[in-house]
Amino acid sequence: MHAFVYTGLPSRVVFGAGTLDRVADEVRALGCERALVLSTPQQTAPANDLARRLGSLCVGIFSEATMHTPVTVTEQAVAFAREQRADCTVALGGGSTTGLGKAIALRTDLPQIAIPTTYAGSEATPILGQTERGQKTTQRTLKVLPEVIIYDVDLTLTLPPALSATSGMNAIAHAVEALYSPEANPVISLLAHEGVAALARALPVIVTQPADRAARADALYGAWACGVCLGSVGMALHHKLCHVLGGSFDLPHAETHTVILPHAVAYNERAAGEPMRRLAQTLQSSSAAEGLFDLARRLEAPAALKDIGMPADGLDRAADLAVASPYPNPHPLERAAIRALLDDAFHGRRPSAQ
Ligand code: NAD
Repeated sequence: MHAFVYTGLPSRVVFGAGTLDRVADEVRALGCERALVLSTPQQTAPANDLARRLGSLCVGIFSEATMHTPVTVTEQAVAFAREQRADCTVALGGGSTTGLGKAIALRTDLPQIAIPTTYAGSEATPILGQTERGQKTTQRTLKVLPEVIIYDVDLTLTLPPALSATSGMNAIAHAVEALYSPEANPVISLLAHEGVAALARALPVIVTQPADRAARADALYGAWACGVCLGSVGMALHHKLCHVLGGSFDLPHAETHTVILPHAVAYNERAAGEPMRRLAQTLQSSSAAEGLFDLARRLEAPAALKDIGMPADGLDRAADLAVASPYPNPHPLERAAIRALLDDAFHGRRPSAQ
């Protein structure tokens, strides 16, 4: 047994099907009575239903949540929350909506209830990414960790198969990098394997039978486990590359994670020997990188950066940015090897270990 440090995150989790029924009780349990409901413009129907369930506990709906949490949108939401004298937020949606709740909490300290409807995992992390003047910056502070998460499997039944696949691979990425993080610890590693196993089992079912409730429950449970991993320990090459590609080339979040993950794991597979051998077992494959690549193919998810908006002439700059600020990674970051990794990912080649 290696020495380790484990810090638990203070968060209450309510998990199940039909759990949205409990939202009013959860608002009251926080000592609140003036909730502001948050959503994207695409999810106003479930947001309206949520507001109806809250009844007089709801003082308004703000449905302008946007990918990458633009500060301009947050400022409008904060002004609206103040106008309505909101005393908490209830964010129903994916990482974009959760991100808005966190950005409001950073500025106002309003307690948050997150009701996730994708597998992105943001609800379980004290991390906030925000965009201002085209620059995305990330910070880690307990101020933004939602106090309560309500996971309601029923809300995920409408998540389209393609988004379920990439969102699920995004979740798996959190768990994979937790396994070789310098802060890796036995609690988080257990959750990481548990999360990967649940998602690897559930996602192939979901893409063909999106209404399969057992598979949806498994996937959402896996997403929670993977989100806790992201929130608890530091991340490495994979998340760095996705941050660069999303931030500087505006590539779509979950698809980028899906394409990059097998290649980042191939880069680290030898250096992070033991955890990656165990990951391969969890994926029922002879290699972790190939197991992840094959899983994504079964899900018919995108395989190549060139298919999700990456310009070929951006690969050199992406490699420069990825090695610009050193950070912990099992295999040392070498510019030429990272450039080769990006080339493989650009063309969607099957990864091979370093
Ligand atoms: P998203 O929240 O942008 O959702 C994508 C689209 O799907 C939206 O239009 C949304 O309304 C819709 N949608 C969501 N759930 C649905 C459902 N059940 N049925 C039908 N439609 C649904 O996508 P995402 O991938 O969940 O989140 C991406 C964002 O989250 C990025 O900005 C990313 O940086 C952030 N994120 C942050 C963290 C963190 O810890 N801070 C972690 C993961 C992701």
